[in-house]
Amino acid sequence: MQPTKIETEREKLEAERVAILDDIEHLKEWLQGEVDVDADEGDPDLAEREKNLALLMVMERKLESVNMALRAIDKGRYGICERCGNPIDPARLEVRPDATLCLDCQREVERIAKKAALRYMEE
Ligand SMILES: [Zn+2]
Repeated sequence: MQPTKIETEREKLEAERVAILDDIEHLKEWLQGEVDVDADEGDPDLAEREKNLALLMVMERKLESVNMALRAIDKGRYGICERCGNPIDPARLEVRPDATLCLDCQREVERIAKKAALRYMEE
C-alpha cells in the first residue's frame, strides 16, 4: 500500500479513535449517573441502561480493533492479514479501516467463535 494512503488511513483511524473515546466517556457518564431505584417499582431506566451497556461493550471492542489497526500501521503491517499474511482486500479496508483479518480469515474466526459459543451454551 502507498505510504500516503497509509497516512490517510492512520488519520482516519485516529479520528475514529477520538470519536469512540468520546462516545465511551459519555456512555460511562450516563451509566454512572444517579439512579433512584425503588425496589418495588424496579428501575424504569433498566432497558435503557442495558442498551447503553451493550453499546458500551460494542464501542470498547471497536476501540480495541482501531488500536490494533494503528499498531499494525506502526509495525508496517497495515493491510496485511494477521492470520494468513495475505493482503487484505482494499475494498474491505475502505469499509472497515480497522480490519486486521482478510475476509476469509474473518469468516473462519467468526465460525470458530460461533461454534465455541454454541458449545458453551450447550454445556
Ligand atoms: Zn487471512
